[in-house]
Amino acid sequence: MGVLVVGTVTLDTVETPQKRVEDVLGGSGTYAAVAASFFCSPVRLVGVVGADFPQTYTDSLNDKRIDLEGLTRVENGKTFRWGGRYSEDFNVRDTLFTELNVIADFHPTLPNSYKDTSYLFLANDPPQLQLSIIEQTSNPKLVVCDTMDFWINEEREALEKTIERVDILILNDSEAKLLTGESNLLLAARAILRYGPKRVIVKKGEHGAISITESSFFSAPAYPLTQVTDPTGAGDSFAGGFMGYLASVDDVSEGSIRKAMMYGTVVASFNIEDFSINRQKSVQFSEIEARYEELQEAVRF
Ligand code: AMP
Repeated sequence: MGVLVVGTVTLDTVETPQKRVEDVLGGSGTYAAVAASFFCSPVRLVGVVGADFPQTYTDSLNDKRIDLEGLTRVENGKTFRWGGRYSEDFNVRDTLFTELNVIADFHPTLPNSYKDTSYLFLANDPPQLQLSIIEQTSNPKLVVCDTMDFWINEEREALEKTIERVDILILNDSEAKLLTGESNLLLAARAILRYGPKRVIVKKGEHGAISITESSFFSAPAYPLTQVTDPTGAGDSFAGGFMGYLASVDDVSEGSIRKAMMYGTVVASFNIEDFSINRQKSVQFSEIEARYEELQEAVRF
């Protein structure tokens, strides 16, 4: 089985305590599609870029065998740009700017061959766009959606309508609290279940991720790393690896969801070892399996 990823494809400017990089390949869709590509095929990406999007970045996505039929290029537009700065310990990230550019007027029509996808991942994007994609697909087996503070603050009403239609909502701990007004994470997750999703996965950065349904709770640790270079896209990589694994086994049982969270964690751990998707370019599947086994051992008692 394959995965349809809908998300942003961006030019990022990232400042870490060690280094600053400008206009590197980023975006929720980019990170998620690359992560999913380790597990399944085809991985289809729907997004939009401007005339300033470098061919070398398109080549990098092609190298990962990502189907780019759904990637629109607007010849008289500029690519979405985002800038962020990390604190000394990487635990705090300030968004320096968000320039929506071509994404502000992007109303994609799914190519016919994309409509019958079984696994749909709506990475961070305007919530109205996410909803329009759900409406264009014919009964996917699993719809997973990610969101972030920007959309919770700017487009709450539209976001609530989107969340109502998804099977799993993935977001980070501060966003779950922001969305619900609850300061306790479990209460926040339960409140989100009342919006409609059957499951909520809350990402907690270096503290791993938890999954909550009406009747289950699961906690996945983060992969222990001593060298962090750039955490940008870790959440999207987690979600992309999660979806890619589920599509590869074509199973959404509790057991597979838990394994998928572990695989997502592993792909995210590689992502943060370098800027942009640089580390993912060289990762071998055997390295993913090795870290997965280490994680299995880490939680065995
Ligand atoms: P993450 O670190 O997982 O939160 O993802 C960061 C990536 O998301 C960066 O590559 C950004 O370009 C992209 N991004 C930042 N803000 C937004 C937004 N409002 N909507 C969609 N994608 C965004």
